[in-house]
Amino acid sequence: MKAVLIIADGLGGRPTDLEGRTCLEAASTPNLDALAAQGVLGLVDPIGPGVRPGSDTAHLSLLGYNPRQVYTGRGVFECFGIGMDVLPGDICFRANLATAEETPDGLKIIDRRAGRIDAGQGELADALNAIKLAVSPKISFEFRPSTQHRGALLLRGHGIRLSCQITENDPHVVDGMVPDSKPNPDAHEDAAARVTAATVNEITKRSFELWKDHPVNLNRMQAGKPPANIVLLRGASDAPHLASIESTYNVKGAVIAGGALYRGVSLACGMSQLDVEGATGGLDTSLTAKAEATLQALRTFDYVFVHVKGTDNAGHDQDAVGKRDFIERIDRELIGPLSRRLDWSTTHIAVTGDHTTPIDFGDHTTEPVPVLFVGPNVMPDATTAFHERAAAAGGLSRFSGQVLPILLGYNNWSPKYGA
Ligand SMILES: [Zn+2]
Repeated sequence: MKAVLIIADGLGGRPTDLEGRTCLEAASTPNLDALAAQGVLGLVDPIGPGVRPGSDTAHLSLLGYNPRQVYTGRGVFECFGIGMDVLPGDICFRANLATAEETPDGLKIIDRRAGRIDAGQGELADALNAIKLAVSPKISFEFRPSTQHRGALLLRGHGIRLSCQITENDPHVVDGMVPDSKPNPDAHEDAAARVTAATVNEITKRSFELWKDHPVNLNRMQAGKPPANIVLLRGASDAPHLASIESTYNVKGAVIAGGALYRGVSLACGMSQLDVEGATGGLDTSLTAKAEATLQALRTFDYVFVHVKGTDNAGHDQDAVGKRDFIERIDRELIGPLSRRLDWSTTHIAVTGDHTTPIDFGDHTTEPVPVLFVGPNVMPDATTAFHERAAAAGGLSRFSGQVLPILLGYNNWSPKYGA
């Protein structure tokens, strides 16, 4: 048996200006509708009813984990996602290259994304990674850029304990002052939190000293671009204790995702990462390449998880037509080839989203998301289309998380709970 899980990020929606329909309703999706006619639909609350999900916590829940027990913060998934080795005790951060200026009151952020810098990040990282920290010789760190202004930073203590119980130093607003990182209110007495916060403050301060006159930035300023002269750190987290999916189900899985966060969550759950040329994590991603890679991967792996990000990007941009058109591309370029070429006598597939990102709000909301299961062991319901309204009348009604366990259950891979 084989299984395929497809998550279109932010797939769910509310009625829009597209004649009162959701983007998924308004989209022409003949391939998804054909699967709906053969399979069973329902609505899934990614984490639980009324819970407004982040993408990371939603994915953990859909993959079968309880995020309230295992989630430690986003930084660790960013580090995993760009290929850093995370060891127990390491503290991970999301990192932003930003533009700061010196004022009498401290450092002020002019541009949180340093003009979406697209070259020279590696040279800046090399310069920063070469410094020796004054706060303690027992602490090492690595900053690694990913795309544009984004990156991750990992702190490691050598015979010294570190803590993720600290505040971030990203002011999140333009013209905001860079705040000092501090121990969280209930961690004031914790020496590990104090030394970790001091380390964060030293790295950010020294990044500015080191980068403000760095050749990469002198060239940027000469070209009229904002310099990438400071690193801001947020999402402090330590390695989560996740039992791998393989250890629970005794099957091997692979992830195909352009975005570092989704690769990171999947790697933390024990999946193997497949690099697919043209998978960008954006609206310009190559969905045909993802379909082809999925079909190839099923020769080696028991299941494949395919993540598609563009639906969420269009939702955040409040672009109803863009979201509708991207859903039509998913149907034509990803679902179409899979429908035609999968061996339907031995394969189960699930299609869903990780949360709702309605056009009117432009961010994640609490509504449930349609989910579809199809394959030889699925009891079909009466639905003949894949969208929110059809799913509300689906045979699975409404449930929370657990989409991967349900999918793997159709393949008879689930361990028995009890005797
Ligand atoms: Zn998401």
